[in-house]
Amino acid sequence: MIIVENFSEKYRHACFELIRAYLPDKEFSNDSVILRYDNRNSYLCLIYEEKIYNVFVKQGDEFFEIRKSLFEILKQLTKCSKKWGLLTGIRPTKLAYNLYKKHGYDCALKNLVEDRLMSTEGANEILDIVERQDELIERHKNGYSVYVHIPFCRSKCSYCSFHTYVNAYDLHEPYTKALVNEISGFKKKLREPSAIYVGGGTPTSIGLYNLSLILSAISAKFGKAQEFTVECGRPEDLTDEMLKLLKSFGVTRISINPQTFKSESLRSLSRNHTVDDIYAAYNRARRVSFDSINMDFILGLPGEGKDTIINSLKIANQLKPDNITLHALAIKNGSKMIRQDLEYKFDLDRLYSEIDELLGLDYKKYYLYRQKRIYQNGENIGYALDKKMCLYNIMMIEEAQEIYAFGMGASSRLKRNDGFETRTNYRDIDYYIKKVRK
Ligand code: SF4
Repeated sequence: MIIVENFSEKYRHACFELIRAYLPDKEFSNDSVILRYDNRNSYLCLIYEEKIYNVFVKQGDEFFEIRKSLFEILKQLTKCSKKWGLLTGIRPTKLAYNLYKKHGYDCALKNLVEDRLMSTEGANEILDIVERQDELIERHKNGYSVYVHIPFCRSKCSYCSFHTYVNAYDLHEPYTKALVNEISGFKKKLREPSAIYVGGGTPTSIGLYNLSLILSAISAKFGKAQEFTVECGRPEDLTDEMLKLLKSFGVTRISINPQTFKSESLRSLSRNHTVDDIYAAYNRARRVSFDSINMDFILGLPGEGKDTIINSLKIANQLKPDNITLHALAIKNGSKMIRQDLEYKFDLDRLYSEIDELLGLDYKKYYLYRQKRIYQNGENIGYALDKKMCLYNIMMIEEAQEIYAFGMGASSRLKRNDGFETRTNYRDIDYYIKKVRK
């Protein structure tokens, strides 16, 4: 448990987030981490594993100095990545992009290092990413993209906290009808979108016929996008027929997600497919010649040390998908896996450096985001081969344009006056079907 005492609400929240980022396994553990502030004497006191750490808070901007002092203590106590300094939000590149556009690279770097206490290496890393994104964001910021949600899967991966339905065959048809109805009934007249993204769940798990109805409704309503992604997270659905169907509807990018190339891990994650299934699906997909294939991997799975992860990425590097996306494991409420399953075996910053060395010859980092309760205060990173950056991922993570979203629980991001507003669809599937099929 994390207890923060003697602070105003603003300070309490910021300190709680900082402690949670650097000591993620303490949030739900029985042994408490306690932070107290003696504002009369300007002392910060952290009690952790029966030891007391006192630190003097310097005069000046109190909000900054308190967090800085807390960060100094936390750095000594954890193996987590230190590169993020005081940043705990999920979109550090959005902050970096705004600084970069306003003040240029050098001033943005100074701000991230001096005011947010990022490491110079980390700050350069995210500024290099936003420099790469800039041209695409400028070109597409007045456009829009489309997201379509299909919340079904063949089995529940043990780390997954998404709201998905496993083998709920009786829902496939009514959901498809409702979704087609919602898309067809979209009234706005717009030019063609920048990107279309069909995600989930595992969209391909609803079968050829249902998926063809949905893709047909998307094409009829929105026409041809510059990029059209369908997530095919599990290799077992990727038959030749499925691949042909995707191609025939103009899909340009698919995602086949191994997560790991270690067979035992796949079994223990309840993913119901083998490593050979991934190779076979990837080879079939390559023959259909999509513009881009992505592969997702997870860092920090139980039983996987640094060597296992590097080995999986060496295999991926040989297969050469156009995108490789790395997710540091984030355990959320609702997943079967619990935080106690995790081992904190390696220094994540060192692992990231090794990965950069391995992938850096051919791939460049092009988007990055973080999550609450993420493994070792890490990040999720997208790598792309030259000219293969995924437009939708950039637009979505940087919140750079409007998104029209369809399906249960899907969130649209709509322009309103000077800003954007988020609108989320019905989260209950029965209610969604009932309301949208009318
Ligand atoms: S395939 Fe994806 S959405 Fe489905 S259970 Fe696994 S992680 Fe969750």
